[in-house]
Amino acid sequence: MSRKLTIAIDGPAGAGKSSTARGVAERLGYVYVDTGAMYRAVAYLAMQAGLSTERDTKAIGELAGKMQVEFRRVEEQQHIFVNGEDLEDKVRLPEVGAMSSAVSAMPLVRKNLLQTQRDLARDPGVVMEGRDIGTVVLPGADLKIFLTASAEERARRRFEQTKDQHPDLTFEQVLANQLERDQRDSSREVAPLKKAEDAVEIVSDGMSLEQVIDRIVAIARAKEAEADA
Ligand code: C5P
Repeated sequence: MSRKLTIAIDGPAGAGKSSTARGVAERLGYVYVDTGAMYRAVAYLAMQAGLSTERDTKAIGELAGKMQVEFRRVEEQQHIFVNGEDLEDKVRLPEVGAMSSAVSAMPLVRKNLLQTQRDLARDPGVVMEGRDIGTVVLPGADLKIFLTASAEERARRRFEQTKDQHPDLTFEQVLANQLERDQRDSSREVAPLKKAEDAVEIVSDGMSLEQVIDRIVAIARAKEAEADA
């Protein structure tokens, strides 16, 4: 039996982190944790409560502290449940995504989600995906991947994914929205998006999802074997 690892996957919006992390976890028989869904859930609950990201930062931070987060499988898909309610579809709405970036810049929100994220990675055999996993949440992760792609490539992929559900959105809007989020995620004071020094960088332009997954699984298997020897 090889030793199981803790794997951190970080990178900007639209780099394919979620599909990659999910695929890697499936191939290795690991648990997949999507931390972006947690920030999205805070945004959704804040929106539902009529809270403003400008005026109500304290209330939004407290709300994050009261969230009980679980990831459960529903019809072969992983869904985020908050306080027992399945919020998977709700957190994927574009307006929730846009608000989640503002919410994730709030120090109290990050502080309150940090412990939950560490708890979810307590047992090895985890692939955790986000922006600050290798740098802040799990600095001791066995394997850190920084997955990125050019801005146009990332926006093109996101546009393809969302165009059926949101035919009103143009490619230009998707690109503009993404550049704004990238800018905010990289320039915020708390836990900005940045590559950990010991992360393996993968630029996925021109690579298929399967190729990216294969590459990470190969590195992980070598590390598992190394830990075994
Ligand atoms: O990855 P996803 O688009 O679902 O993330 C939603 C938002 O949550 C992002 O805009 C990002 O600002 C934030 N996020 C974060 N730290 C993480 C994961 C996501 O700040 N670890």
